[in-house]
Amino acid sequence: MSVEQTEPQSFNLSEFDVSTDIKAYVHSLFSVSVHEEKAMEQSISEISQDFLSARYTSTNAGLTSLTSSFIDSQIPLKPLELDHYLKFLYGTVVNHSNHTSSPRFIGHMTSALPYFVRPLAKLIVAMNQNVVKTETAKTLTLHERQALGMMHRLVYGFSESFYQQHIQENGSTLGIVTSGGTSANISALWCARNSVLGATEEFAGVEKSGLAAALKFYDYDRAVIIGSSLMHYSFDKAADLLGIGAQGLIRIPADHQNRIELQTLRQTVAECRRRNICIIAIVGIAGTTDSGGIDSLKEIADIAQAANTHFHVDAAWGGPLLFSKQHAKKLVGIAQADSVTIDGHKQLYLPMGLGMVLLQNPHLANVIQKRATYTARDGSGDLGRRSLEGSRPASALCLHAGLNLIGVEGYEVLVDEGVRKTQYMANHILSHPEFELLAEPEMNILLYRYLPSRWRSLAALGKLTQADNNAINLFNQQLQKFQRQIGQTFISRTVTKTTAYGKGLAITALRAVIANPCTTESDIEDVLNDQIQIALELEQSLLKEQSAS
Ligand SMILES: *Cc1c(COP(=O)(O)O)cnc(C)c1O
Repeated sequence: MSVEQTEPQSFNLSEFDVSTDIKAYVHSLFSVSVHEEKAMEQSISEISQDFLSARYTSTNAGLTSLTSSFIDSQIPLKPLELDHYLKFLYGTVVNHSNHTSSPRFIGHMTSALPYFVRPLAKLIVAMNQNVVKTETAKTLTLHERQALGMMHRLVYGFSESFYQQHIQENGSTLGIVTSGGTSANISALWCARNSVLGATEEFAGVEKSGLAAALKFYDYDRAVIIGSSLMHYSFDKAADLLGIGAQGLIRIPADHQNRIELQTLRQTVAECRRRNICIIAIVGIAGTTDSGGIDSLKEIADIAQAANTHFHVDAAWGGPLLFSKQHAKKLVGIAQADSVTIDGHKQLYLPMGLGMVLLQNPHLANVIQKRATYTARDGSGDLGRRSLEGSRPASALCLHAGLNLIGVEGYEVLVDEGVRKTQYMANHILSHPEFELLAEPEMNILLYRYLPSRWRSLAALGKLTQADNNAINLFNQQLQKFQRQIGQTFISRTVTKTTAYGKGLAITALRAVIANPCTTESDIEDVLNDQIQIALELEQSLLKEQSAS
């Protein structure tokens, strides 16, 4: 996409001389159905189509060189001409953005979206509802509650009468819509903390009295959250905000399948009991961000139940597996969770900024309830009463639309296809000596690495030393960076410590995430061939460097 192609149409703003008639100009910005809006929509729609149909993943402009276009910190005194501003927006910002919807952009959890969410996002902005309270979001409050009820039913599958009773009952909270998985995890653990250290007849509870007083009252030395070493870093944020500190987040090692070690979990829980430590929650992961590994949720649920502790499942990535007859069984035990995080902007294929936490007990969220006189009134249906966020957009409109327009069977296809194509990629990697598969994929995330030719025979014999692995790590880092810079295809990278090379040895892995429904087998082959090509050049230049030194 060149700047020429992105040339916006000229706009008829000449009615007002922006430099002299500022009052008339500002008023014109708020008028309905102006000619300018139509023209701008037309131009943006063309730019979007261009952007969406690109197959390359990014231009080769580096971040450092782009930075120079973004250092001016002065707010213009006079409004800029619209076409002048749009030219900058298209040419500099949009043009060099990442094509997350490209079928060859298969390295992150962000991919293509169904077409209908784009016009719906426009509708959300046009209506500009504020879902914090019913007075600014009358029907969208009900609409959101209905969507949450559907998601609750997907996870917990309670009776029809349960949903009839709670779905629109102001006193019940089947779930909370958030801006993403991070806020959802924080909200869940906030509920867990306030519940376990709640009010009694003699004590006002942690919500009123704070953590120090609560631990003292309940005779605990400290409080912790327990999960695997692969917990998302949003749990670090939660531990920090909830006042238990980084040391309050206990990370238990994961096995070679990236699952929490159950025996260590049992021992840790027992030790917490012995040492007077309050367990706020035990966390199970349904699809780790790194590798897609799924904890043994059923076993963790039983451990949590025996310890009478809140069980939270972070299914931000893997939750939609529940739509699939074939793969839902991997999440067995999730219905025993007190709270479940699912991201809408990941495998529900909804726009960025949509997550949710679902709550088994419709009254759990009462422990975080707040009120204000001008809003969030007692007994009202104001959603802001029981949510971390205040003013927020009606993004759940897209959730409701997605559930209705894609449906259970549609989501099942999306899930099954992703897993199937990931298996295809794994098989392709296994049959190419240039690559090494680092773990069997559990769902649609794949960890592998490139093996430069001089290490292939040693690797086949299982005789790589730590020094060899360090060198291969460095090589894969460079490979991933070059591939990203060239911008024809994209794979992310991570560091994994749970491979066949033994626990604790840090291996740099290339990480594929296959979620884009438009990604085909031949796209996958192209991405891998691109990597082989780049790696060959890299190997050659490294050889040259060595012989020169
Ligand atoms: C993505 C993710 C999160 C965080 O969600 P955001 O929407 O990025 O805030 C938490 N946990 C897991 C397992 C994730 O994959």
